[in-house]
Amino acid sequence: MLYITYVAKDFQDALDGNNSEDLDSENVASSNSVCDLVGEVSYSMTTGACKCLVRKYFTCHWQRKWNITDSGRLTYELVPTVGQKPQLPSRRNTSISFVCILLHESNLHRQPYRLSANTPQLCTCGQSIDDLEHFFLEYNQYDKARQKLMSHITDVWNDSENSEKCRISVPLLLAPTVNSNLSTSDCRTVLSRTFKFLQQSGCIL
Ligand SMILES: [Zn+2]
Repeated sequence: MLYITYVAKDFQDALDGNNSEDLDSENVASSNSVCDLVGEVSYSMTTGACKCLVRKYFTCHWQRKWNITDSGRLTYELVPTVGQKPQLPSRRNTSISFVCILLHESNLHRQPYRLSANTPQLCTCGQSIDDLEHFFLEYNQYDKARQKLMSHITDVWNDSENSEKCRISVPLLLAPTVNSNLSTSDCRTVLSRTFKFLQQSGCIL
């Protein structure tokens, strides 16, 4: 047991998002209310409970900032929740490409900024602007890999609890947990298929 004194006044902000039930469930060694943890008070708790409170404090603070900041809004659409370990491809190059896409820093994202705003950056096929939508859903060079991708994801969708028709989109491929009602297991399968497509394309984005 540790004997801890809390003096940080802004601790209240972090705890506002939690209720006493949450705290009790994390083995806080008392039935005192949340208010008892705020201000200059002495409190006895286990090391594990202390780590839990500190983690909650910083995670809540981080999440609030991520919710309201002006930057990174495109990344926010794909990764709205902080503090979660992302599912990443096992292959290094594919993993780099995927992270660059999430950060909106891939070659596909950067291209429009290299040229004049009035000059569209066409794909080598000449059919469309070379963006994520075209890369994942249209570019005919990847038709074979795409057919497998679409088939697998449609199967996952049809086997799930979803009653809606499957509509495969870039947000679904990149962030299924945010853009669908699929189960955690199904989302992992969707992402693994997306990774496979990235790998088979041979592109380093
Ligand atoms: Zn193209």
